[in-house]
Amino acid sequence: METQDCGLLVIGAGHAGSELAVAARHSGWADRIVLLGDECALPYQRPPLSKAYLCGESDANALLLRPAAAYESAGITVKLGARLAAIDRAAHEVTLADGARLRYDKLALCTGGRPRLLACEGIDAADPPPNLFYLRTLADAEGMRAAIRPGARLVVIGGGYVGLEVAASASKLGAAVTVLEAQPRVLARVAGPDLSAFYEQVHRSHGVDIVTGAAVSRIECEAGRIVAVRCVGGARLPAEVVVAGVGMVPNVEAALAAGLAEEGGISVDDLSRSADPDIVAAGDCTRQLHALYDCTIRLESVPNALEQARAAASWLGGKPKPNRSVPWFWSDQYDLKLQMAGLSQGYDRCVLRGDPASRSFCAFYLRGERLLAIDAVNRPADFMLTRRALAQPRLVQAAQLGDEAVLLKDLLTPSAAASFTGKP
Ligand SMILES: Cc1cc2nc3c(=O)[nH]c(=O)nc-3n(C[C@H](O)[C@H](O)[C@H](O)COP(=O)(O)OP(=O)(O)OC[C@H]3O[C@@H](n4cnc5c(N)ncnc54)[C@H](O)[C@@H]3O)c2cc1C
Repeated sequence: METQDCGLLVIGAGHAGSELAVAARHSGWADRIVLLGDECALPYQRPPLSKAYLCGESDANALLLRPAAAYESAGITVKLGARLAAIDRAAHEVTLADGARLRYDKLALCTGGRPRLLACEGIDAADPPPNLFYLRTLADAEGMRAAIRPGARLVVIGGGYVGLEVAASASKLGAAVTVLEAQPRVLARVAGPDLSAFYEQVHRSHGVDIVTGAAVSRIECEAGRIVAVRCVGGARLPAEVVVAGVGMVPNVEAALAAGLAEEGGISVDDLSRSADPDIVAAGDCTRQLHALYDCTIRLESVPNALEQARAAASWLGGKPKPNRSVPWFWSDQYDLKLQMAGLSQGYDRCVLRGDPASRSFCAFYLRGERLLAIDAVNRPADFMLTRRALAQPRLVQAAQLGDEAVLLKDLLTPSAAASFTGKP
C-alpha cells in the first residue's frame, strides 16, 4: 500500500482536533492538513450528550462543531471512520487499523478518552449487557436515549458530573432514577462539601434518589440483561437501565507504544508540545504542567481542549502563544448553571457568597489568603469576574468574600489586590 503524505496530520476528530486543524490554518500553516478520526460523524459537541441531546431537545446536526464547508474552505481533508494503530516516530509515519500508512511532517494527537469500564462481579466488562450504558459518543447517547422511557427504573452508578447530568435529564424524561455514589458525597473529586450537599438536595427535590457511601458489589443479570444492582452491605436495587459514569481513561495506547506517554496521558508543555519536537497533543489525552498552580494535571473539559489546540496551532504556524488560561468547566442540571474556574485542590477554606437556598450563590476556595477557585451556581457575572481575577495569583480578604455588601469587583480587581499586602 502506498504511503500518503499529510503535512500536518491531526488524529482525533473531536473538540481539540477540529480546533487545532482550523486554527493551524489560520495561524499560518500553509501545507496540507489532514484531520482523521475513528468516529463516523464530523466533529461534534460532547457536552449536550448528557443534557439537551439526551432530553431530546436537540438533534445531531445541531451538535456539529463546524459544517463540512468550514473544513473545505480551510483546505482541511477530513477522513472519518479511520483509526490510528501505531506511530513510527523515526520514519514520521503512522499506521491505521486497516493497514494504510500516512506520512507526516507534524503530528497532532487529540485522541480524547473513553469511559472507564465498570469492573464488578456479575458482568463481563468486555461484553456488557445491552441495558448497561456508558456515555462518551453520539452513538452512546442515542442508545441511552432509546432506553430511558417514562417510568423506567434507572440506576446511575457514579455521582460525578456526567452521572448527575444523566440523572437530571432522565428524571426530566420521567424515569425513576437512583444515583449510587461510593464516596460519602456526590462530586467529591471536584467540589467542596457545600456544593455536594446543595446538588444532593436539588436532585432529591426532583425525585432522584441519591445514595452516597454506596459501593456496587455485584450486578444481577437474567437472560443476559441486568435486573438489579447490589451494593456492599446487601442493598438491592431493581434496574431496567443502568448507566455507569465512573470516570474516563485517556486514549494513549499508540502514544504509549511510541514512548510518548504514560498511563495518565501525553505530557505536554504550554505550547502543547510533547517530548518529540514533531508531535503536539491537546485535550483529554494530555497532562500538562500548569504554571498557575504549579502542578501536573489532566483536565477534562472543552475549554481546556480548545486552549491547548490553539496553543499548538500557534506554535505550528510559527507564532507561538503559550496557553496560560485558567482552567474552567460548566455543568447544566435542571435550571442550574454551574460554572467552575481554577483548581480547588489543596484548599483549606471554603467561603460561601449568597444563600444556596436562593439557588444563586458562589463557593470560593482559598489556601490561606490565596484565592484558588470558584464554583458559581446561577451567578455568571461573579464567575466571569473571578475567572479573570484567577489569571494571576491573587490574595483576598476572605471574610469580605462572604459579605454581599462588599462588591466582588472591589475585592478582585487588580487595584484591590495591590492594596492588600499579603504574600502569594
Ligand atoms: C457526556 C459528557 C458531557 C460533558 N460535559 C461537559 C461540559 O458540560 N463542559 C465541559 O467543559 N466538558 C464536558 N465534557 C468533557 C468534554 O466533552 C471533553 O473534555 C472534550 O470532549 C475533550 O475534547 P478532546 O478533543 O480532547 O476529546 P474528544 O472530544 O473525546 O475527541 C477525541 C476524538 O478522538 C477519537 N479517537 C480516539 N482514539 C483514536 C484513534 N486511535 N484513531 C482515531 N481517532 C481516535 C475519538 O473517537 C474522538 O472522536 C463532557 C463529556 C461527556 C462525555
